Amino acid sequence: LSTWSAVPAGPPDPILGITEAFKADTDSRKINLGVGAYRDENGKPYVLNAVKKAEEIMTAAKQDKEYLPITGLAGFTKNAAKLAYGADSVPLNQNAIAVTQTISGTGALRIGGAFLARHYPHAKIIYLPTPTWGNHIPLFKDSGLEVRNYRYFDKKTVGLDFEGLKEDLKNAPEGAIVLLHACAHNPTGVDPTQSQWAEISDLVAEKKLFPFFDMAYQGFASGDTNRDAFAVRHFVSQGHQVALCQSFAKNMGLYGERVGAFSLTTKDEDERKRVDSQLKIIVRPMYSNPPLHGAHIANTILSNAELYQEWEGEVKGMANRIISMRERLYELLTNGYQTPGEWGHIKSQIGMFSFTGLKTEQCKALADKAHIYMTMDGRISMAGLNGSNIEYFAQGVDAAVR
Ligand code: PLP
Repeated sequence: LSTWSAVPAGPPDPILGITEAFKADTDSRKINLGVGAYRDENGKPYVLNAVKKAEEIMTAAKQDKEYLPITGLAGFTKNAAKLAYGADSVPLNQNAIAVTQTISGTGALRIGGAFLARHYPHAKIIYLPTPTWGNHIPLFKDSGLEVRNYRYFDKKTVGLDFEGLKEDLKNAPEGAIVLLHACAHNPTGVDPTQSQWAEISDLVAEKKLFPFFDMAYQGFASGDTNRDAFAVRHFVSQGHQVALCQSFAKNMGLYGERVGAFSLTTKDEDERKRVDSQLKIIVRPMYSNPPLHGAHIANTILSNAELYQEWEGEVKGMANRIISMRERLYELLTNGYQTPGEWGHIKSQIGMFSFTGLKTEQCKALADKAHIYMTMDGRISMAGLNGSNIEYFAQGVDAAVR
């Protein structure tokens, strides 16, 4: 008898399953809109010029391969915090932000979950929006937090269920943790407006909730890293202490390099040092210290004025290409094919993803009949569309809803 004979087969990952089906499809018109990675106008993965130049600088400097400290590359974590909180941030300038480098955004969430499970002094309950990034749910459960939900998306309006959101947060127990997508909500592409963020901030204060931000798309939503950091900076300016997860997967195209950061704002430098020491105690037995290469790339860009400027231009370029695909798709569905239904949300949604409103059967039909692959909740990655395939896609959607 094998030691593992009682291990049951788990279900396949829904998103990676789509990629497999796409790969197996031999039709030349096939389109993969499942995966959340940017593609250029030729449908190809895109390595940013700023990244290539940073790597050239690193190669020329004959970078060694020594271990990083437990909380990562100090220059990187400092610059990552500055990017998120802003150079004029009060806690940043008071040396009161505890920050550790992480294994991209997922690692940031996981370290954050572990820190809260161990040190958060109130109810260890985290409220997630419905829907949310699928991985949030097992991730926070595995971290030892109790997962609950708040309403977020209104299927009828294909927009934000703001009243539902407020009601659910009002009914949350005092002191609960609330996960907020800082910008470019995944999977819906629906974000609160700035005035709605201000209301959420007031409500979070009133109910003494703890705001835990997931910012996986800074710069990717609007093309402007400052604009996309509005929610985080507003909360901090209102006196909230926040937790923040950052990822450089999308905005620097460093997906497989796994570059991220987790931070907590604290009262003062002394408290920050104590929190830092506990972050180290969580990281050390988990993976000892984070990988070097990607953090070095990100830090080279963030600390070099010329590369920083080039990077900002490239982030804007990626965001703008996605926005132009939204406009084109909207045009094709409304004025072009005169597809039944309301399609304004295609244009108003933000970031990498769009919740099309397509039903499961329609998504299945698109895969089976048109070789177009997406998640069965109707989410498409806008970055998978380009000038060569968007008409074919719109035609497929038109056929699927008629
Ligand atoms: N959070 C959200 C909302 C995401 O969409 C993603 C990636 O798709 C992540 C976090 C983490 O991604 P990564 O671990 O690749 O940085």
